[in-house]
Amino acid sequence: MEGKGKKLWRRMKCDQLIDYNSLPAYLKDNEFILGYYRSEWPLKQLILSIFHVHNETINIWTHLIGFLLFLFLTIHAAAKIPSTIDNLRRVDFSKICEEVVNCLISLPTMADLSRLKDALSSLSTWHITQVITKCLPHHLSSTNNFNATTSDGSISVINHQSGIGSNVAMIQPITRWPFFAFLGGAMFCLLNSTFCHLLGCHSERLRYVVLRLDYAGIAVLISTSFYPTVYYSFMCHPLPLYLYLSTITSFGIITILLSLLPSFQKPSFRPFRTTLFIAMAVTGVAPIVHKVWVHGNQPVIIETTKNEVMMGIFYGLGAIVYATRIPERWWPGKFDLVGSSHQLFHMLVIAGAYTHYRAGLIYVEWRDYERC
Ligand SMILES: [Zn+2]
Repeated sequence: MEGKGKKLWRRMKCDQLIDYNSLPAYLKDNEFILGYYRSEWPLKQLILSIFHVHNETINIWTHLIGFLLFLFLTIHAAAKIPSTIDNLRRVDFSKICEEVVNCLISLPTMADLSRLKDALSSLSTWHITQVITKCLPHHLSSTNNFNATTSDGSISVINHQSGIGSNVAMIQPITRWPFFAFLGGAMFCLLNSTFCHLLGCHSERLRYVVLRLDYAGIAVLISTSFYPTVYYSFMCHPLPLYLYLSTITSFGIITILLSLLPSFQKPSFRPFRTTLFIAMAVTGVAPIVHKVWVHGNQPVIIETTKNEVMMGIFYGLGAIVYATRIPERWWPGKFDLVGSSHQLFHMLVIAGAYTHYRAGLIYVEWRDYERC
C-alpha cells in the first residue's frame, strides 16, 4: 500500500513545478531562484521536460545547442584536413629566385657566376641538387621528416615513414590530435552539462552521478583547451611541451578525483570549486607568456594570443557570474526563468570555447606551413 501511495504521490507531483522552499534538501542550491522547479519527476517526464518551460529550460538548451555547434565544427574541421599541403601556394617565386641566386654566388668558393658554372660542371648531379637545396628557403628545402634526393634528376622529397616520394612543394599536414582533443573536450563538457540540467532533479543518487560528470566535463574542457596552444607553440621544444602537457593533464585528473568527494557539491564548497577551476585556468597563463617569449611578435602569435585573452575574459566573467550569482542575488525571483547567473555562465563558456576554436584553426594553419 505504501509503495502504491508513493507512486500515486509521485505521479501527482509530476508536471507540477514547485518553489524553492518545497524542494528536498539535496536540490536546494540557489536560494535566489525562487520558483519553477521540477522535483523528483520520473525519467520519462524529465526527458520530455526539455520542451517545457521551467527554470532549467534555458540551461539545457544553451549547452545542447553548444554541443551541436561543436559537433558541426568538428565534422567541418575533419572534412577540411588536406591530404597534403601545397607549400608553393604561399611562395613568392621572384623572391625565391633572388634568394637562391644570392645564396649560390655568396658561397665562399664561388666568387662570380663563371666560377659558379665551373664549380657546378665539376660536381655530380647529386651534389648540384644538394647545393641548390641548401639555398632554398627552409620551408621548401627540408623538414624533420623529409630529405632531398635526386632519383630522377629533379628535386624531390622522401617521407621516411611512408617511403613515398613526392614533389618538394607537397608536404604532409601537421597532426591535428591536440585540436580534436580540445573539440572532444568541449563536446564532452557541453553534453554532460546538458544531461546534468535535464536529469539532475530525478533523485539524490542520479544527481550525484550527473554532477560528477558535469565537474569532470569542466575539468576535461579546461585541460584539453591547453593542448592546441601548448602543442603547436612548443612542438619544436620537447621539454616545455611535455612539462606543460603533463602538468595540465595531472591537474585535470586531480580535479576529477577531488570532485568525487561527496562534500564537493555542497553549497558551502562553491567557492572551493570555483577557485579550483580558476586555478586550473590560470596555469594556462604560463605557456601563453612562454609562447610569446619564444616566438616573439609574429602576426600568428599576436592573433592567437588575442583570441586566448578573449577566451580568458569570457571564462573569467563566467566564473565571477557563477560564483557571485549575479543578477538574481540582487532581485531574487526575477530571473527564475530567463537571465539567471547560470544561464549567463553557460553562454560565456560557449563564447570562450568558440574563441579558442578560432585560435586552434590559426595554430593548425601556421604549423602546416611553418614547421620546426
Ligand atoms: Zn550548468
